[in-house]
Amino acid sequence: MGTRQQALFIIFGGTGDLAKRKLYPSLFELYKKGFLKENFAVIGTARRPWTDEYFQDVVRKAVTDADTSKEDADEFAQHFYYQSHNVNDTEHYVTLRKLAQRLDQKYSIGGNRLFYLAMSPRFFGTIAEHLKSQNIVTDNGYNRLIIEKPFGHDLASAKDLNNSIGRYFAEDSVFRIDHYLGKEMIQNIAAVRFGNNLFRSLWNNRYIDNIQITLSEALGVEERAGYYETAGALRDMVQNHILQIVSLLTMNMPASFTESDIRREKIYALKALQVYSPEQVEKNFVRAQYGESSAGLKGYRQEEQIADDSKTETFVAGKVFVNSENFSGVPIYIRTGKRLSKKTTRIDIVFKDVPKNIFGSERLGKNILTIIVEPKGEIYLQMNVKKIGQNFGLKVQKLDLLQVEDNSVQIPEAYEKLILDVLRGDATNFTHWEEVAYSWKFVDAIRNAWDNQQIPLPEYASGSMGPQEADDLLARDDHHWIFTSENDNRD
Ligand code: NAD
Repeated sequence: MGTRQQALFIIFGGTGDLAKRKLYPSLFELYKKGFLKENFAVIGTARRPWTDEYFQDVVRKAVTDADTSKEDADEFAQHFYYQSHNVNDTEHYVTLRKLAQRLDQKYSIGGNRLFYLAMSPRFFGTIAEHLKSQNIVTDNGYNRLIIEKPFGHDLASAKDLNNSIGRYFAEDSVFRIDHYLGKEMIQNIAAVRFGNNLFRSLWNNRYIDNIQITLSEALGVEERAGYYETAGALRDMVQNHILQIVSLLTMNMPASFTESDIRREKIYALKALQVYSPEQVEKNFVRAQYGESSAGLKGYRQEEQIADDSKTETFVAGKVFVNSENFSGVPIYIRTGKRLSKKTTRIDIVFKDVPKNIFGSERLGKNILTIIVEPKGEIYLQMNVKKIGQNFGLKVQKLDLLQVEDNSVQIPEAYEKLILDVLRGDATNFTHWEEVAYSWKFVDAIRNAWDNQQIPLPEYASGSMGPQEADDLLARDDHHWIFTSENDNRD
């Protein structure tokens, strides 16, 4: 059983998709594990006029699966209260304060409050302002603000958003969610890098040849089309998740495994990102859209809510450099997209060849450390070993370092881990403002070049791993993608 937490959650956007699919099930897990028990309550707010009973029913349904006991779900749902709330109406915050005070007393919460903004970022400033002006923040406990992506759509808008929140909440009480940072295998990067001298000593530009990061999705834009059309793969995936992974892979070893030391090194890595000129963008970045599939699936521009002449990219691949002492010169190839051959998140660290092959005509394979984040957690290392037998020959062998078998370990959902971190006040796995700012600076240079120049936007076949141009990007450096649609490098 975990250490019990006392907290009142106020969820803005309590009727939304994120709340139902991720937040309520995660809170329920924390409840079942004993982190939340008697001393917690949740106020869901949104515009709809729901009653507490109806809301509790929605929560019960959201947390019920084959393993859920009805008693647990009922008991949990009793901690939930609903308030119909228009975020622009000051009067509604007065009602909210009274409800919050009543629940704080009823559940002996001691003034700890978490404000979860699960709604459009354009409301964040208004909500933060009202939480302060209407005294919904307390002075006898903590007050933490949890916010969702997207954090702006470029550096300028992100700055505005940050200022509108920062006026009322100090940086150390703002928790910007990047749910990739809550994933088990992403958190494993630090363990592998800094817990093993073998990798720690080789983790630099003297031994690493290139790094490849792939975040591929098999689905198209589906019901998020409206939002996606305004964002595209670069803003939706690269600015946040991919650059966060880049920072975890390239940061220097922190002085200690603590929030402030890790943060300092991540910021340093992102600050060292090489920001491209328009000519460099054209050379180092590829964007594309998915076309119609032979199986009859619609192409991106034929999807509902998407303009016929849309220039929004559903795929991006690029070569990134972190110009730090340890990583300058190492190409970091990134790619992400929709309607690709397989849904996976993986990282391949390709090491340099031995300085001299003494085995004559025997070919040496590359040493590759692969971290698979999804669909199943795996880490393996490709090595050269002798072929068994009379003669001397070599073969490439994969050493399994870790395989998270389905059901063998219960892997907590990213949101569950992150919400517990917020309850404990640990911001290690959240994105600091400076990280956001450096990431936007890098992304803005690419976006501006795409918007202002005639840089092509090719189509790629649904079910492929993107356009030919993404393969050419690596071929020019004499490299190739380790993961392809034909070969997932597992055999
Ligand atoms: P949603 O559209 O399903 O829900 C939005 C919520 O905001 C609803 O509860 C709605 O009633 C409420 N709302 C809208 N206008 C309001 C107003 N004026 N006053 C009060 N309430 C109002 O959206 P969602 O998918 O739950 O996403 C919420 C946020 O989380 C967005 O910023 C989104 O980008 C982000 N996000 C969502 C996901 C996801 O998987 N759904 C993933 C990552 C980030």
